[in-house]
Amino acid sequence: MNGNAVALVTGGSRGIGAATALRLAQDGTDVALTYVDDAEAARAVVGKIEALGRRGLALRADAGGAERAAGAVEETVRGLGRLDVLVNNAGVGVLGPLEGLTIADVDRVLAINVRGAFLASRAAAGRMGRGGRIITIGSCMTQRVPGPGGTLYAMSKAALTGLTKALSRELGERGITANLVHPGPVDTDMNPADGPYAAAQAAMTALGRFATPQEVAAMVSFLAGPDSAYVTGAEFSVDGGHAA
Ligand code: NDP
Repeated sequence: MNGNAVALVTGGSRGIGAATALRLAQDGTDVALTYVDDAEAARAVVGKIEALGRRGLALRADAGGAERAAGAVEETVRGLGRLDVLVNNAGVGVLGPLEGLTIADVDRVLAINVRGAFLASRAAAGRMGRGGRIITIGSCMTQRVPGPGGTLYAMSKAALTGLTKALSRELGERGITANLVHPGPVDTDMNPADGPYAAAQAAMTALGRFATPQEVAAMVSFLAGPDSAYVTGAEFSVDGGHAA
C-alpha cells in the first residue's frame, strides 16, 4: 500500500468493520467508514485511526439507501482525496423460518447486503486507479448452510460471489482486483460468542470456537496489500473450518 492510500469500509463503527478499519490504518492507510445509528462508536473508531497517525472520516450512510451507498464513495474522495480500497462490509442478518420472512425483510436485506455492495463497488470502480481493491464480506453460509432459517441471508450473501467474479472480469484490465471473504462465526454485536446459539455455531467449526473480528481483518489486510496483486475473483474462508 502506498503512503497516501485511502480506504472506505462500510459499516465500520463496530464489529468486523471497525476491526478492519483499524487494521488498515495500522497498515498505513487513511480510512473512511460508514455507520447508520451509532455515531459515538463511529467517532471512537476515527479517534483510534487518528491515534495511529492516519486520517479518519466517519460518514453516516445507510448502505440500503440507493443514493447514500454510492454517495459515501464520493464523500470519501472529497474528504480524503482519493480511493484505493473499498471494503463492502455493511450487512444485516435476518434469520428465521421461511414462512415468517416478509417482503419488507426481503427488500431490506437485499438492499443492504446486495444492492448496497453493487452500488458502492460501481461508484468506487469509477474513482479507483490501477492497484484498486474491492473486498467484500460474504458469509460461511454461502458455502454451508448448517440448519434451517437461513434462506434470506444465505441468498443475499451468495449473490456476492457473482458480483465478485464479474467485477474481477470487468475491472481486471484496469488493474483493479475484487475478492470475497467468508467469515465463520465472529464474536460481534450481530453474533455474540455468548449468545443463545453460540455453542452450536462454535461446534460446527473444526477449531471449535468463534473468530475475533481481528482475524477476519487480517485477511482483508492481505487482500488490500501489495502481496495480493495477482489475486482476484477469489473467495477466502476465514471460518475455522466451518465449510470443511
Ligand atoms: P455488527 O452488527 O456487529 O456491526 C455492523 C456494522 O455495520 C456497524 O458498524 C453498523 O453501524 C453497520 N451497519 C449496519 N447496517 C448498516 C447499513 N445499512 N449501512 C451501513 N452500515 C450499517 O456486524 P458484524 O461485524 O458481525 O458483521 C459485519 C459483516 O460481516 C456483515 O456483512 C455480516 O453479514 C458479515 N458476517 C458476520 C458474521 C458474524 O458471525 N458476526 C459471520 C459472517 C459474515 P451502526 O453502529 O451505526 O449500527
